[in-house]
Amino acid sequence: MKSETRVAVIGGGVVGASVLYHLTKAGWKDVLLIERAELTSGSTWHAAGGMHTVNGDPNVAKLQQYTIELYKEIEQISGQSCGVHITGGLMLAGTRERLDWLKMAKARGRYLGMDLEIISVDEAAKLFPLLDKKHFKCAMYDPIEGHVDPYGVTHAYAKSAQLGGAEIVRHTRVTDLKARSDGSWDVITDHGNVHAEYVVNAAGLWAREVGRMVGIELPILAMEHQYLITGDMPELVGKKEQLHCIDFEGELYIRQERGGMLLGTYEKAGVPWSPTQTPWDFGQDLLANDLERIAPSLEVAFEHFPALGDAGIRKVVNGPFTFAPDGNPLVGPVKGLKNFWVACGVMAGFSQGGGVGLALSRWLIDGDPGADIWGMDVARYGDWTTLAYTNAKVRENYSRRFSIRFPNEELQAARPLRTTPIYERLQAANAVFGDYCGLEHSLWFAPDAQSAKDEFSFHRSNDFPHIAAECDAVKNSVGLLEISNYGKFEVKGPGAADWLSQVMSNRVPAVGRIALTPMLNERGKLIGDFTMCRVAPEHFLLIGTYAAESYYLRWFERHLPGTGVSIRPCAMEYVGLSIAGPNSRALLQELVRDDLSTAAFPFLSFKRMEIGMVPGYVGRVSFTGELGFEIWVTTDYQRALYDLLAGAGRKYDLRPFGGRALNCMRVEKSFGTWTREYRPIYGPFEAGLGRFVDFKKEKFIGRAAAMEEKRGGGALRLLTFKLDTADADALGDEPIWHDGKVVGWVTSGAFGHRVKHSLALGYVPAALAGATSGFEIEIIGERHHAQPLLEAAYDAKGSRMRT
Ligand SMILES: Cc1cc2nc3c(=O)[nH]c(=O)nc-3n(C[C@H](O)[C@H](O)[C@H](O)COP(=O)(O)OP(=O)(O)OC[C@H]3O[C@@H](n4cnc5c(N)ncnc54)[C@H](O)[C@@H]3O)c2cc1C
Repeated sequence: MKSETRVAVIGGGVVGASVLYHLTKAGWKDVLLIERAELTSGSTWHAAGGMHTVNGDPNVAKLQQYTIELYKEIEQISGQSCGVHITGGLMLAGTRERLDWLKMAKARGRYLGMDLEIISVDEAAKLFPLLDKKHFKCAMYDPIEGHVDPYGVTHAYAKSAQLGGAEIVRHTRVTDLKARSDGSWDVITDHGNVHAEYVVNAAGLWAREVGRMVGIELPILAMEHQYLITGDMPELVGKKEQLHCIDFEGELYIRQERGGMLLGTYEKAGVPWSPTQTPWDFGQDLLANDLERIAPSLEVAFEHFPALGDAGIRKVVNGPFTFAPDGNPLVGPVKGLKNFWVACGVMAGFSQGGGVGLALSRWLIDGDPGADIWGMDVARYGDWTTLAYTNAKVRENYSRRFSIRFPNEELQAARPLRTTPIYERLQAANAVFGDYCGLEHSLWFAPDAQSAKDEFSFHRSNDFPHIAAECDAVKNSVGLLEISNYGKFEVKGPGAADWLSQVMSNRVPAVGRIALTPMLNERGKLIGDFTMCRVAPEHFLLIGTYAAESYYLRWFERHLPGTGVSIRPCAMEYVGLSIAGPNSRALLQELVRDDLSTAAFPFLSFKRMEIGMVPGYVGRVSFTGELGFEIWVTTDYQRALYDLLAGAGRKYDLRPFGGRALNCMRVEKSFGTWTREYRPIYGPFEAGLGRFVDFKKEKFIGRAAAMEEKRGGGALRLLTFKLDTADADALGDEPIWHDGKVVGWVTSGAFGHRVKHSLALGYVPAALAGATSGFEIEIIGERHHAQPLLEAAYDAKGSRMRT
């Protein structure tokens, strides 16, 4: 093994091999892969090798498409067969809800260029004669599905990488990692050490243990997974290879394997494997079979595919593989550690491995993954993902692998975990809670405890009239919303203002003022949006999306100067309450000595005040678009503040409102939000945030690219649409049609209760930004007329917020 390398990739499973290949493909030849045993010695060797393009996150779906297309390339370079069988696949629907889900998946596939088709049960039976039609309603056909040979794929990547200059050492275990002061790493192995500029943890089943070598606990857990292969079946003799099938009701996947069928299942009572420590001596081993555990799924399989019942079982495979809490990979550089990267938690290595390798290599080499990979960025998790939390969420995710998740369905595992001091107060007010980064927050308020639960649906549901009443209260009097679930950072020091001016695109506010600002990367794309509040000349509070706290911190760390600025995440130190509506000022004025008139405290003001006995920061902003105030206090004061506002609010009929009403109101105002309208694939002018980019500043990150976007107009434009729908609103990810062609996608949708119609926000090509007709948005398989609005649907001039 060489003693110096630019990149040391730890792990020779399908993911490590793909990372290595992509690094060489991008021109980095001085790269080394270190494998404990033989290549594929973790999860990879016993995988079923299935691959498909459909994924709940469209951006991850694109990387899956890329992976499948890559196999030809690595076969050609390496001469190693990947054993690719493109059979096509069917997703079978047995219920009305599943049919709706398929229609939505098909619609999403439209703007991804996927060729998905909903077919009748008769057509499905022609394509897959083993199914018993009476259990199904219809199916979705995907021509690009199939399976590969896990050994072949891994070796094809590895050989291609070697031909590109990479070195691979086998039977060498990394036992420790030591950081040098310049950010490079001493990689300690049982066969000598290597000094590496970068380390990539692609250790699969042992990624958690490799993470511990550098002091981090990665949120991953291995689950046992079983599939079986039947004996040869006469039904298959002389026939073309059978398609892949997913039977959601049976929680099964099924495909042909030689003369029999391979049948796998994600059972409800899944079992974690080595929940705290993966043994280092686990090699190309299998786990003991437990057919009892998957018996309920097998019974369904024998009913739904009767010929399987007579085929007998030739082989059972039970092997472990890892999952993150949401089932998507963990990729990218790790906050707080220089030059330490991960590519792990990849539960579908044969659909995703190529995309993971591509994104990681681009990111490492160019400083940008080249695609929107938020859905698999390791930074989407934070400190709340303890070992036990991860265990509960991964088991839940595994058990729901083939379950429908309704848009209004909150998952229940690991709850309640994090609560704010007013949790019981909100419970007493019949709040229906959601889970956000492990934190409970109110979604809507029911009239009584019995009705305080969601009826899951793709259509408008039981919360609809109550959200309407909440919006009505905010419009006509005053509403109270808990806003603790925002990310917060305190920025201090003599260099704070200059630094923020470099990192943010808007101008830094004066003391006592707030500036709304995008944060751009060097390519001029949106990587954050913040409320920047200036407390004192050298003291700022930044408020942004909590889920992106690690993502932001990673960026801040990269750009912080050596001295003069300190930044500290303080999300849970300051909890918040917001009051919004025309009576919000009168209400708050009863509790503070400061003058809240517009003359004394105009829109976008920020000040330390005493609210009764409670010290806090008060900002004059509201995401509702009404006159409103956000009040931030330390946790110990939140209950007192709530009681104070609730008491004084009685005479104004103060009504609590939740996150869903807030969503409706911000859509009415065409206010975007991070991960929906604002993502690293959009520029500020495309997203309608151009007015928050201050070109009077000579320098800030992304300035040149943003200027170019301003001059050229950008490729896309965020529009607001008024929709003709009867009982279902857009949710996000629906295709936008124009003159019979899919031209864009929805980012958010909601019923606007103040304007009394359905609305959607979405991106279309800039050339269509001025079109006033011809748009349609597809909701659950039906296209609805969509009228683009030239301005926000509600109070377009913004006079209500400024009053
Ligand atoms: C039964 C079963 C069926 C599956 N079916 C499918 C399927 O149909 N389709 C699909 O896409 N996926 C499937 N999977 C999942 C798939 O196997 C994984 O997504 C994939 O293997 C993950 O690859 P990896 O490279 O991340 O991890 P691994 O395969 O676990 O590779 C990690 C490698 O790192 C090495 N390593 C670890 N620590 C060190 C160290 N300290 N020093 C040196 N080397 C180290 C290990 O020896 C190992 O070779 C299945 C998994 C199982 C168990």
